[in-house]
Amino acid sequence: MSGSSAGVVVVGAGLGGIRVAENLRNNGFTDPITLVGAEDHPPYDRPPLSKSVLLGKDDRVDLKPAEFYAEAGITLRLGEPVTAVSPADQTITLASGATIAYDTLVLSTGLDPRPFPGLTENVRGVHVLRTYDDAVALRGEIDSASTAVVIGAGFIGCEVAAGLATRGLSVSLVEPARTPLAVALGEQIGALVSRLHVANGIDLRTGVGVASIAVSDSRVEAVELTDGTTLPADIVVVGIGSTPVTDYLDGSGIDLAPREVGGGIACDATGHTSEENVYALGDVANWLDEDGRPKRVEHWNHTVEQASVVAHQITGGDAVTASVAYFWSDQFDVKIQVLGAPRADDDVHVVDDDGKKFVAYYSRDGVLTGVVGAGKVGAVMKTRPKLQTPTPVADLL
Ligand SMILES: Cc1cc2nc3c(=O)[nH]c(=O)nc-3n(C[C@H](O)[C@H](O)[C@H](O)COP(=O)(O)OP(=O)(O)OC[C@H]3O[C@@H](n4cnc5c(N)ncnc54)[C@H](O)[C@@H]3O)c2cc1C
Repeated sequence: MSGSSAGVVVVGAGLGGIRVAENLRNNGFTDPITLVGAEDHPPYDRPPLSKSVLLGKDDRVDLKPAEFYAEAGITLRLGEPVTAVSPADQTITLASGATIAYDTLVLSTGLDPRPFPGLTENVRGVHVLRTYDDAVALRGEIDSASTAVVIGAGFIGCEVAAGLATRGLSVSLVEPARTPLAVALGEQIGALVSRLHVANGIDLRTGVGVASIAVSDSRVEAVELTDGTTLPADIVVVGIGSTPVTDYLDGSGIDLAPREVGGGIACDATGHTSEENVYALGDVANWLDEDGRPKRVEHWNHTVEQASVVAHQITGGDAVTASVAYFWSDQFDVKIQVLGAPRADDDVHVVDDDGKKFVAYYSRDGVLTGVVGAGKVGAVMKTRPKLQTPTPVADLL
């Protein structure tokens, strides 16, 4: 543990940032901790944004009660984007021009949603969903809208389409791949997810792209598809992926990972960047996986585990991490769960399918790599031990 007074500075007051700070205190770290965030909000949770917040059911997304920060001795500097990092001086610079010194720097700046290509002006009715403010802006238009087009059927696009349909809108979901979630889970499981959306009234348009967004008087009117179809739209949500937030590192000397391996901040297997005393974690960080390959992951549990690892790197000792990766997505009344590291090109074995809920095993070279379930929480979770050691998938079939 460092004995000097600058302590740990964490850039990014989101999930990863607050978890590192909290873990440091839990590990007995007594030096100053400063959490710097670009947004005005204290650290909040993002998964509810495309679920309960969009549905208007729940607005409580804060990750910690207001009194936590003073009690834990964590200084929050909110609404202050970091614009530069100087490892040579051990300082960061804020947009205001102020500088903050650090002994140890932790970077957890997340992602920026990719805007629709070519749409440069600010068009009313066109949304992305990454922040709480994004969610509130989108939710605020639902009551006066009747049609919505969601561009991109990844996890966030699928959740938003489900949420908007549940709120009574007529929703089209447009995806150039042949099924939703094809990139993450492959087309076989994607087809089962298609079925869920179609059964719930989504106008699912796969295998087709978006040619343009039609705008009148700075307000969206329609979405024109590459097959010539025009879909009227009071609301458009662009869910075509995100890019790691690293612009503030220009000139810092901190290495970034190549785009072909996911981009983001290049790290070793425990979050060290190319600069001493600088760590990165969460959606923005590209850690080496257990096989020594660079891998950037955009999931909640993964970020929480990395925060524990980084805090232990700083204070000493080993972090306890789950050996099996996990994430989830809620679409309509179904929880989709993904255990392990299934890949879209793995062999897929659907072992249970009642027309709505299902369980599927993924395998590579005959070895179980992952389990995906929809509405089958118990069945998915009980396979966890099988993913902790190499298991022939045939043993489960
Ligand atoms: C709508 C939505 C739904 C999701 N649902 C799920 C789900 O169901 N399951 C799941 O596993 N995962 C889900 N996720 C992903 C999960 O929320 C992320 O993996 C997690 O938030 C990553 O934490 P992070 O700390 O890396 O980034 P974030 O939580 O995004 O925090 C990064 C913070 O850094 C700040 N920042 C950026 N640049 C700067 C700067 N220059 N200076 C200072 N601060 C800066 C940002 O404002 C932000 O607050 C969802 C994400 C979104 C957006």
